[in-house]
Amino acid sequence: MEKIVVVGGGQAGLSLVAKLRSSGYQDEITMVCEEPELPYQRPPLSKKYLTGELEKDRLYLRPKSFYAENNIDLMLGCRCEEIDPYTSKIKVNGKKVSYNHLVLTTGSHPVKLPPNLGGDLGGLYYIRDLADITSLKPEIVVGRNALVVGGGFIGLETASALISKGLHVTIVEAADRIMQRVVGPETSSYFRNLHRSNGARLLEGVGLKRLIGNRRVSKALLSNDDELDVDIVIVGIGVRPADALAKNAGLDVANGIRVNQKGQTSQPNIWASGDCTSFPWGDSYIRLESVQNAIDQSETVAANIMGADENYEFVPWFWTDQYDTKLQISGLGAGYTNIITRAGIKENSVSYWYMRGDDLIAVDAINDPRSYMVGKRLLEQGIGVEPETLANPQADLKSLLRQ
Ligand SMILES: Cc1cc2nc3c(=O)[nH]c(=O)nc-3n(C[C@H](O)[C@H](O)[C@H](O)COP(=O)(O)OP(=O)(O)OC[C@H]3O[C@@H](n4cnc5c(N)ncnc54)[C@H](O)[C@@H]3O)c2cc1C
Repeated sequence: MEKIVVVGGGQAGLSLVAKLRSSGYQDEITMVCEEPELPYQRPPLSKKYLTGELEKDRLYLRPKSFYAENNIDLMLGCRCEEIDPYTSKIKVNGKKVSYNHLVLTTGSHPVKLPPNLGGDLGGLYYIRDLADITSLKPEIVVGRNALVVGGGFIGLETASALISKGLHVTIVEAADRIMQRVVGPETSSYFRNLHRSNGARLLEGVGLKRLIGNRRVSKALLSNDDELDVDIVIVGIGVRPADALAKNAGLDVANGIRVNQKGQTSQPNIWASGDCTSFPWGDSYIRLESVQNAIDQSETVAANIMGADENYEFVPWFWTDQYDTKLQISGLGAGYTNIITRAGIKENSVSYWYMRGDDLIAVDAINDPRSYMVGKRLLEQGIGVEPETLANPQADLKSLLRQ
């Protein structure tokens, strides 16, 4: 009898065990999960769960019965402290657990604001775990002043949720424009207007100097020397991969746990998937923080543990909901040479198509699911498309898929 041990009970860990069982893996599976919750989805934490539109039960990826029915030993509230790759054992709550295959799905951690900038004051929140939202929710009170530090997806989604609950929200983004890391200037510009028209005070090229307060934050000093009165502060300044466990075990780690295209680490019977990994992409390695990556990479690992010899090859996709606007992204736009704008059919819908030379590399579709769907399939099937066709809203993009 073999045993697969999974460390981490997030989207990646759950996708892995679900795939193993649905593919007929019959031996032992143990999941070691630091959080006390059944595996749950994180995207609603900064969206409908934060606004109260989604019940807690709807966050869980599978009901409790799934684990018993599938003979998965779920160790909740248990942290893996150490891996010994030489004896194929891990240490959990002081006890040794042995494995034949170990899969690390440890996710990522928010970058913390250091104490000398006020990071240890009360009233400051991160948006990562269910526990973060449980402590934040009572602070969401009409008329209060919230500062959101960081204009990435999580900061902006949280800002939109707080505005919908009647708070006064200021967003500061130290870079020139919001969401700079993942989208082009056109998409940033659309969302800048969206936030401002919904009442957010959005400052780009402005950072946080420090938070001020006696135990609890009361003011924020910004890099433009503005001083704001604040009741709560949300810090969304990025995440770091949770790779310390792997590093301490001597596995290759560089901005995440290094895996090959099969999802295997530098130790053949240790695998990794999801936010914690850095994997081959073209000539280099990348890290992605998305549900798609967590699911697809885990399913590749599950197949490979069962002997499939598959490569993790995919077109990345991602979404964000802010106010009543949905942005869907397919592909990676980094390294684009040109962006083509395509007006949508409905009001407020538009898509931006990223070209590198003559090649389509990504699409941002705003309130435009059809462009997203067609763009994703063009990318998956490697179908070429003329810029003139993309720019012409009358041209039927779907017909390109029938070529
Ligand atoms: C607020 C928020 C909104 C998001 N919105 C979107 C979205 O709209 N679209 C999208 O595609 N993606 C979104 N994401 C990203 C997406 O949720 C992540 O990419 C995904 O959750 C990654 O899954 P994972 O399993 O790799 O990591 P995680 O979900 O972080 O799970 C890792 C788990 O491992 C546990 N763990 C870590 N170390 C140990 C240890 N030593 N022992 C035991 N357990 C351990 C952690 O406690 C955690 O529960 C969002 C993320 C957040 C936080």
